[in-house]
Amino acid sequence: MVVFHRATTKWDERSFIGNRFDTKNHGPIKKDVIKVIDPVNLKVLDSWGAGMFYMPHGITIDSKGNTWLSDVALHQVFKYEPDQKKPSITLGTRFESGSDENHFCKPTSIAVSTKDEHVFVADGYCNSRVVEFDKDGKYVQSFEDLKSPMSVVHSVVLIEKLNLVCATSREDGRIICFDRDTKEKKAEITNPMMKTVYALKYDPTYEFILAVTGANDDQPSVGLTFNASSLERLGDLVNVWDSNEAVLSDSHDLAVSRDGKNVYVGQLNGEIDQFLVE
Ligand code: ZN
Repeated sequence: MVVFHRATTKWDERSFIGNRFDTKNHGPIKKDVIKVIDPVNLKVLDSWGAGMFYMPHGITIDSKGNTWLSDVALHQVFKYEPDQKKPSITLGTRFESGSDENHFCKPTSIAVSTKDEHVFVADGYCNSRVVEFDKDGKYVQSFEDLKSPMSVVHSVVLIEKLNLVCATSREDGRIICFDRDTKEKKAEITNPMMKTVYALKYDPTYEFILAVTGANDDQPSVGLTFNASSLERLGDLVNVWDSNEAVLSDSHDLAVSRDGKNVYVGQLNGEIDQFLVE
């Protein structure tokens, strides 16, 4: 299990002036922000990343074992190859927000195609798009819901079997799926339990989309499983896998083991909770 965390830094109302990170008051995080943990005995096997990141957000390990990280203060996304501590690809412009091919605005999450290693960045807190790059980091195209712009694009997944790019519009609880080639909006998944939706993962073993909702005044986070086996059944609710407020309080991110049986939820209170889903 690999965890990207903010260590000593907290994102609060003083962290940003508009979309610009306040570097005068906040330097890079001096502690290691990446931890590699044995998920069975919870031993920390490795840690790194001190002095490099300002406001860690998203982590994805691709099928080749590369680590992709996003930092919302830097407005950048980085690719680290196995055992390398210098990025081999940097996307976005350091500390500069924007909405062109070379800028993000607080990018949140990354998905990487197993087919051609293209990279999809959820962008983000202050843009409303998913941006695609090729395996060398060259801009390809952007995905947007033009009729109803996404509000905080917080998570992105690929469903390669269906040729879809799916992203969360966090603040209004929508999961929107685009055709990867035509960029056409193919589906919008909503559910009364999903007032806000923070994180998504696609599980290719069972062909499910797993999602965690945010906490609302009257309701803690819940985990939801949706069918993703075909375009016709996409978004059918399969399971609600936790509604126990003692367990999920305020979920932020999600990971699934390769066999599809273990789901891990990172919460804003600093906990990671593990669920067995059958
Ligand atoms: Zn977030």
